Amino acid sequence: SSFMASEKEAALAAAPSDSPTIFDKIINKEIPATVVYEDDKVLAFRDIAPQAPTHILIIPKSKDGLTGLSKAEERHCEILGCLLYTAKLVAKQEGLEDGFRIVINDGPKGCQSVYHIHVHLIGGRQMNWPPG
Ligand code: IMP
Repeated sequence: SSFMASEKEAALAAAPSDSPTIFDKIINKEIPATVVYEDDKVLAFRDIAPQAPTHILIIPKSKDGLTGLSKAEERHCEILGCLLYTAKLVAKQEGLEDGFRIVINDGPKGCQSVYHIHVHLIGGRQMNWPPG
């Protein structure tokens, strides 16, 4: 894939679609990832371009149309809860007892670059508000 100068550039270049993404290859173990948590429904692995000492992505193993949060339907309520609960478990596993940040980017203006819903778990340094 072509070089992207920034996450924003990658996000603006990514066309929203329901096609398989690189995350399917991670789920299927076709490309390596540093997995920190896995069960039958969700997978959590370290972001390849970490924005903080801890930067983990939590994804559903079955995308089921959830390219992003904006595509959520009522049937997705359970998996959405599982993603957040997994974020809590992994935050504890990572020792983030003083706090952490959860982010879900959606669509080009939300800076989403991979169209398979994912929760970012970011921590290990002081966060700022508002986000950029
Ligand atoms: P988004 O911008 O919210 O869509 O986040 C996508 C994230 O996936 C970015 O933080 C990327 O660094 C990360 N990412 C992209 N490809 C890989 C990979 O192969 N392994 C781990 N993380 C990845």
